Amino acid sequence: MPHFSGRISSKLPHVGTTIFTVMSRLAAEHNAINLSQGFPDFDCAQELRDLVTKYFNAGLNQYPPMAGVPRLREAIAEKVEFLYGARYDPEHEVTVVPGATYGIFTAVATFIRSGDEVILFEPAYDCYVPAVEVMGGVPVFVELQYPDYGIDWARVQQAITPRTRMMIINTPNNPTASVLSGEDMRMLEGLLRKTDIVVVSDEVYEHIVFDGHQHQSVARFPGLAERSFLVSSFGKTYHVTGWKTGYVLAPRELTAEFRKVHQFNSFVANGPIQHVLAEYLQKRDAYLSLAAFYQGKRDLFLEGVKASRFHPLPSRGTFFQNLAYDAITDERDMDLAVRLTRERKVASIPVSVFYREPPAHRVLRFCFAKSDETLKRGAEILCKI
Ligand code: GLN
Repeated sequence: MPHFSGRISSKLPHVGTTIFTVMSRLAAEHNAINLSQGFPDFDCAQELRDLVTKYFNAGLNQYPPMAGVPRLREAIAEKVEFLYGARYDPEHEVTVVPGATYGIFTAVATFIRSGDEVILFEPAYDCYVPAVEVMGGVPVFVELQYPDYGIDWARVQQAITPRTRMMIINTPNNPTASVLSGEDMRMLEGLLRKTDIVVVSDEVYEHIVFDGHQHQSVARFPGLAERSFLVSSFGKTYHVTGWKTGYVLAPRELTAEFRKVHQFNSFVANGPIQHVLAEYLQKRDAYLSLAAFYQGKRDLFLEGVKASRFHPLPSRGTFFQNLAYDAITDERDMDLAVRLTRERKVASIPVSVFYREPPAHRVLRFCFAKSDETLKRGAEILCKI
């Protein structure tokens, strides 16, 4: 191919390849145990795969409706009502989308104009800032408080200005594995009362909350639900991150605007997969048992690293365990993550990449959505460091 010789003014001049891709690639190159990128190394349920065969052979291979297959929208609304006590109208308030990343991006694109401020919490999951910046928005950061990664609500209040248009929250949180409490949500509800600020609530780990705690969805809080896009995904819930199917719930007025952008962005999500998910959602146990499943894996990994010099931070949700390493080295987390992958054959994610400026504390994120055998082998290596 000849080269493009015109001027390119990048809309994302500082963005490179995502850390997940970089570390997974490095892990593969060095034949390391990959505890970096967040995806299960085990397959989804056989029953789910059988449903794929059924629905891909059912003559449903053309465009589904723009907002999503009605039976899936109904099943999502039922699940949310059952879990959080809020009834979203499948017709006007539930939209099926090709993944949560897409849902977040589209919500940002729907509302953010040049110069609009968007409040984000740092460390921030990697797709938030680029979505805001591509739209000309201005990210305004509030730092989560190490080591519990709680929110100082007085700081949030200070960050709100007349130009604040949106806030993006994420509970359970990637990469910190913290969760917001009911008290947090009530604080937020109070702060936003009488404002026009829209909330994007990333709840993709909604079913992975540990130690008997409840997931505090925006759907539970009327003052938040009325201004929120609740974004979730089936990727983590059913061990199918490659399916890229999720959903966005929002009041009718917000959904109407969202769908205007969605219909010219991807227009629809994968059709047959929506039928598969609609049927599988009837099995409540599949999502209700997920927290216990991952808590077992978290505890296995924690037990495995107990004898190590790493210091575990609380993991209250998601499938990530953060380990601080002050007792081991003062290397930068990026350098350590690369070195451990190359030399010790275990890959992780350096948490500083989710900040604008590397923070004083140094932490590596380990994904425990892996077979018990892999987790044990990974932990054994960490104990020798
Ligand atoms: N969300 C996953 C993680 O945090 C990765 C998804 C991706 O690779 N973009 O590891």
